[in-house]
Amino acid sequence: MKILVINCGSSSIKYQLFEMPEEKVIAKGLFEKIGEEISFLHHKSIKGDLEFKKDISDHEEGMTFIIKILADKEKGVISSIKEIAGVGHRVVHGGEEFTKSVLITEEVIKKTEEYIDLAPLHNPANLMGIKASKKILPRAVQVAAFDTAFHHTIPREVYLYAIPYQLYEKYGIRRYGFHGTSHRYVARRLVSILNKNKEDLNIITCHLGNGCSITAVKKGKSVDTSMGFTPLEGLVMGTRSGDIDPAITFYLIDKGYSTKELNDLLNKKSGLLGVSEISNDMRNLLQAKDRGDKKAKLAIDVFCYHLKKYIGSYMAVLGKTDAIIFTAGIGENVPYVRRKSLEEMEDLGIEIDEKKNKEARGIEARISRESSKVKVWVIPTNEEIRIAFDTYEIAEGRCARNNEHEIASGASQ
Ligand code: AMP
Repeated sequence: MKILVINCGSSSIKYQLFEMPEEKVIAKGLFEKIGEEISFLHHKSIKGDLEFKKDISDHEEGMTFIIKILADKEKGVISSIKEIAGVGHRVVHGGEEFTKSVLITEEVIKKTEEYIDLAPLHNPANLMGIKASKKILPRAVQVAAFDTAFHHTIPREVYLYAIPYQLYEKYGIRRYGFHGTSHRYVARRLVSILNKNKEDLNIITCHLGNGCSITAVKKGKSVDTSMGFTPLEGLVMGTRSGDIDPAITFYLIDKGYSTKELNDLLNKKSGLLGVSEISNDMRNLLQAKDRGDKKAKLAIDVFCYHLKKYIGSYMAVLGKTDAIIFTAGIGENVPYVRRKSLEEMEDLGIEIDEKKNKEARGIEARISRESSKVKVWVIPTNEEIRIAFDTYEIAEGRCARNNEHEIASGASQ
């Protein structure tokens, strides 16, 4: 069964076409700068790589072009668009409503629209992708996988902020958490690598990419996560500040900053970029640090310190920690960050094997010593495969129900 996974940003469409349940990637690509003068499509498939420059005005036009390439007679990988049985969409905010991936109905679209208020940068783009896909592939099962869903198990005393309760009731102000599909994927992957039951493991998952978040997973369930009402809270990120004293915002308002300027400051000009004044990209900062740039080193050290503080607090939350997982661009590739954030924690049961740590780049690997009580792993994330599985299961369920209906009504005989 062919399953297409779509991740729409405001001006981009990232996609992967899978053969399921084999988990085989048949084609993947990224359409960038949609709506701008020239849009770029980088497409890879078992038939080779392709690059296109096009004038694409919106997501519907972009999706139509992608489908055309996928089904192209010469360079395509499917003979007809009818082969695509399901489309899985990454949706950032599912509020309190969506606790797992769901079949997209008009009601689901309506609810996702209501959550635009909570995710103004992401949900509108995700909805554009859903609407385009429904139009272009009307026969395919459409499924939404929410970034927030995995965190629905976080207890009340953890998701509530200590602000007047009526703000939760009136505006839904609470911790939602994000990157749920990634935390869920790596936690499940470790359970399967170790061949254990998820109920037997407590894991801390560190998703360190341009956006960063950390989750305490107790017996397979998220019980706390660092991103909150929005993705701004928690760890230091590429351009986001993570946790700060909220009074800094009032102070800056008194100094003449507008709400928009503050929003830009904390979301786009802070984090690694803000402290280093060089770059939000860890690769650039590591090179600058090696050249002796003090601010680059400081930015990385601030990043590692906050991470270490969260790891320690989640060890307290879990009581017993069996494993820590590093994932995403930085987590998978930067031994310095992993070592720095876990150093001098031997008394807490964490012993890093520096040789293994240095060797583990972009691959699944255990980087703790044999004697380490807490096992430390690098596991590359794969949100797309998780979404493909959820979509496959829902599509299969629907096929099975349709068959039952056909048999019951005699239609298949
Ligand atoms: P992501 O959002 O998961 O794509 O991660 C982006 C972050 O990962 C950026 O800060 C990149 O510099 C960093 N990153 C990705 N690959 C590497 C690498 N090979 N070495 C160091 N940092 C990397």
